[in-house]
Amino acid sequence: MPDMNGKVALVTGAGSGIGRATAYAFARYGAKVAVADLDKLGGVATEEHINSTGGEAIFIEVDVSQEMQVKDMIDQTVAEFGRLDYAHNNAGIDGEQALLADQTTENWNRVIAVNLSGVFFGMKYEIPAMLKQGKGAIVNTASVAGLKGFGNIAPYVASKHGVAGLTKSAVADYGTSGIRFNALCPGVINTPMVAGFMKENPELIDAVIGNTPMARVGEPSEMAEVVVWLCSDEASYVNGHTFAADGGLMAI
Ligand code: NAP
Repeated sequence: MPDMNGKVALVTGAGSGIGRATAYAFARYGAKVAVADLDKLGGVATEEHINSTGGEAIFIEVDVSQEMQVKDMIDQTVAEFGRLDYAHNNAGIDGEQALLADQTTENWNRVIAVNLSGVFFGMKYEIPAMLKQGKGAIVNTASVAGLKGFGNIAPYVASKHGVAGLTKSAVADYGTSGIRFNALCPGVINTPMVAGFMKENPELIDAVIGNTPMARVGEPSEMAEVVVWLCSDEASYVNGHTFAADGGLMAI
């Protein structure tokens, strides 16, 4: 069990799903947590849960597609807690479903802005904060859709391949810096995002379970444990990895 006492974690998209579970896990392992989200209600609920169960958290309202808001989020985290040890750049949207040629440019721009530019802005301002300490760990949420193509969601797939590329490039740029960079590639996880997606395509849930060797969807807490481990000193030689946590989906 990693000891994260005295450490500071920042999680985007922490008002729901995978991000909330990761924020809870960082707090459970002793870290102070900056809970960042566009959704104020969800974010405050995460913050309050951590503070009422013995942890220490602050909520920061942010739209990760806006560079200056992301910069302010990181400045605020460091101003409040004095440092930044771990960042989970996780906020994301699935976007509209359509064949590639039927995708709207608006949907393309929004999905890339949130899922890819949002991660770029996060890394751009997290890295200097971590360089000052000579140590840190960043985990970006990509997806199994960052490892292979999927139909009807080309902008999402492109954004998640981009997240994998950003993560690997950071390793090339900062290999000896003391900062490690990894990408989490979840399979299908039981979150509000997936509930919305499945509602539009009810037949997909059976197809997904049928294609997954473990024959079930994953839980947010199962992603959180991977993120926390990737950030911990226990993973000290793990760098530049696109880590599929997918019940075996990518293995077959
Ligand atoms: P979720 O339950 O919808 O949580 C995402 C959170 O991010 C929500 O609170 C959402 O707020 C917030 N958010 C959306 N746009 C934002 C923005 N521009 N700035 C800041 N926060 C924003 O989704 P999730 O399933 O936990 O997904 C988390 C990450 O995992 C995403 O990057 C997703 O692509 C990835 N992922 C999920 C799955 C899965 O099966 N669930 C699989 C692979 C990858 P609103 O509710 O207000 O939009």
